[in-house]
Amino acid sequence: MSTSYSGPLPPGSVIGILGGGQLGRMTALAAAGFGYRCHVFTPEADAPATQVCAQTTIADWDDAEALAQFAAACDVVTYEFENIPAAAAALVGRHAILRPDVRVLAICQDRITEKTFLGRIGVPTTRWRAAGDPDALARGVAETGLPAVLKSARLGYDGKGQVALVPGIDLAAAWAETVATGMASAGQPAIVEAWVEFALEISVIVARSAGGDIAAYVPVENQHENHVLRRTIAPAAITQALAAKAEWLAKAIAEALELVGVLAVEMFVGGDGALLVNELAPRPHNSGHWTIDGCAVSQFEQCVRAVAGLPLGPTRRHADAVMENLLGDEIARWPELVADPEVQLHLYGKNEARPGRKMGHFTRLRPCR
Ligand code: AMP
Repeated sequence: MSTSYSGPLPPGSVIGILGGGQLGRMTALAAAGFGYRCHVFTPEADAPATQVCAQTTIADWDDAEALAQFAAACDVVTYEFENIPAAAAALVGRHAILRPDVRVLAICQDRITEKTFLGRIGVPTTRWRAAGDPDALARGVAETGLPAVLKSARLGYDGKGQVALVPGIDLAAAWAETVATGMASAGQPAIVEAWVEFALEISVIVARSAGGDIAAYVPVENQHENHVLRRTIAPAAITQALAAKAEWLAKAIAEALELVGVLAVEMFVGGDGALLVNELAPRPHNSGHWTIDGCAVSQFEQCVRAVAGLPLGPTRRHADAVMENLLGDEIARWPELVADPEVQLHLYGKNEARPGRKMGHFTRLRPCR
């Protein structure tokens, strides 16, 4: 195995996946369609992806020997979540081709580096400031205004690690809460963002090949409940001009990152129709699950194509779609859903239905508008 190989991987090659969740599982299922074998690295035994992969390494992120052996056994490595410790990703990158590369991961796993990057390439975001202590928070809020939201810069997902800052709030107390919950520390600043009164939340999934070709899926609307994605509606009910702008922004970001893989770009649509980018995820994304059933080539196949050095596939949809997550106990609905001829059901093989945990999803298709 060489770390500079960039031609198309032949069938039978091994794709490594860092992380064992449902995104890795669905990526591995797509990879199998081209005859690839997947090797998952995860600290968690019986994680969803391990159930469908040819090989598994169960080890901690700080197990350098296990990471090196894993990487050496793969022809290319990708990741299914962005909170992989940077040192682990860098180590893998020394022994294997990592796609998207370590630089992309470093930018996207920290909200401060991500927003700094977006600002540098001229992509609009909400006003924000880094805050590493109570005084910096007060100065930041003077810039963003209130209401605002204080977020951990790293390791936050599904709204975890966020504190709402409303007018009249005691900022010192909010900061103390942030530190007490481990969201920030002396060496790890948090980020304060101006609150956006959005009309809609949308996302665009974009793929970029090793040869620099780019393809985007149609923008979709994302509806959240308790900070967790409840449903995705494809396509989003926005004007063609706005959809084109959202796609253009996503492609520009993928280009500037020199991405090889897929990237989800989450955006707010303001009441005035302005687009603000909220977050990037350099991997398949929950808001792209509808593409399995609604598009010629799913986001997972597209990810495999990109990281394996294959040409990208068409992103056109053959149906409109509504995708809903099955969270926690809602998994009990599976007999009803699997019996519904209008529903495509996808379950993730998780045994424990903890509240809010993503257990599966289902998609209903409709003729294209
Ligand atoms: P995030 O972890 O940044 O994706 O935030 C999770 C969800 O919280 C988003 O999808 C929004 O619904 C909401 N949210 C996050 N940041 C803001 C903001 N600055 N203004 C308004 N809503 C926000």
